[in-house]
Amino acid sequence: MRELLANVHKICLRPKRDYSVRKHHPWVFSGAIADVAFAGSGKDSASPLSGETVEVVSAEGETLGYGSYSPASQIRVRMLSFDPKRVPDGAFVAELVALSISRRAAFFAPESTTNACRVINAESDGLPGVVADYYNGHVICQFTSAGAERWKDEIVQSLMANFPAGAAPLSVSARTDVDVRAKEGLKCLEGLECLTGEEPPELIEIKEGDIRYFVDVRKGHKTGFYLDQRDARAAVGAFAKGREVLNCFCYTGGFGLAAAAGGAKHVTQVDISRDALELARRNAELTFGGGPEAKDGRRFDFVEADVFQYLRRCRDEGKAFDLVVLDPPKFAATKSQVEKAARGYKDINLLAMKLLRPNGILATFSCSGAMTSDLFDKVLAEAAVDARRDFQMVGRTRQGADHPVALNFPEGLYLKGVILRRLS
Ligand code: SAH
Repeated sequence: MRELLANVHKICLRPKRDYSVRKHHPWVFSGAIADVAFAGSGKDSASPLSGETVEVVSAEGETLGYGSYSPASQIRVRMLSFDPKRVPDGAFVAELVALSISRRAAFFAPESTTNACRVINAESDGLPGVVADYYNGHVICQFTSAGAERWKDEIVQSLMANFPAGAAPLSVSARTDVDVRAKEGLKCLEGLECLTGEEPPELIEIKEGDIRYFVDVRKGHKTGFYLDQRDARAAVGAFAKGREVLNCFCYTGGFGLAAAAGGAKHVTQVDISRDALELARRNAELTFGGGPEAKDGRRFDFVEADVFQYLRRCRDEGKAFDLVVLDPPKFAATKSQVEKAARGYKDINLLAMKLLRPNGILATFSCSGAMTSDLFDKVLAEAAVDARRDFQMVGRTRQGADHPVALNFPEGLYLKGVILRRLS
């Protein structure tokens, strides 16, 4: 043990800056670090390399654990081990991957209604900066921290080796076009890098209950699909019977298809992106068919528009709906943007509230981590007052169980959903 530790850089924290690591929060910010020391010899002692494993030590000299060094990031160390006796190595990381997969066993059981789920959810699964999503046999990863990049090979091998029989991956690939990689000094490239196995197809077909979706893992958002909204799609489906639905920011159509599967009378899918709408159209055909019945009955309409303008147009034209879904992109990336984001959320929610018929349902979401659930509720309440409508809350949703949130890492909870019913 002594020998091992002798070759590790020590990150010495400032006095009283050890509390968050002691509570097993995985991030050590640069401002908490007093000094970087190197105990070994014959090696450049100046600074640890990107992704190198370092020992984190309190001001009093107590070893608190080990993490990966990110020289270019404000989050200078991401913790991997909080055990002073356990220096992370390849086997340690491989085991974390295996454990993470085993926690999702229910998704891979024969009775599972889906063949797509997140298998590694970064910090909350003990693997900072590592995301891995499984789409019907193909695993798509994002490595967004220096440590994640350092352990990439071990992670990929463990992903290939540890799925339950029948679900073993055909390939593991990585999306390297994630902006946050730049903050870590990692390369950002377009598209998908196949790391092992056969190249994934252009579009991967997945199922979720009775619905099937094509997922574009190369150009689609995140790794291709909003797996995190699975429970919310089910909730919207359960309210949809007989309703006329407006699905704003529809992307590839998820909520609209869930509503249609739940018995909606008609669904209008709105997005600003032509490519997203094109896939939404193909997805509608995939599950509901594109035959004459669908055309004449016009179960779906697809509208390419800016939602902020479209909602105003609907208001001006006196349109009304029985169910409106608002699932916009992240309005606040940081705390400093929360105020502006709140105005954006209030604007679209107020407009949507006005379009609802009595007893209409508003399913409204915020995926901005900086926007707390309390603040989001407050924004909705203010929007309702200004819309001169009364609502009751009939449900709340959050990211699904395959996107867990470690209790000591509240930053992991980013997705909030509220389902409201119009009373008057
Ligand atoms: N609800 C989707 C995910 C939404 S992602 C799902 O469940 O899959 C956000 C979407 O909003 C993207 O498809 C993006 O093209 C779209 N978008 C962003 N700004 C927009 C705007 N002002 N008007 C309409 N769509 C917008």
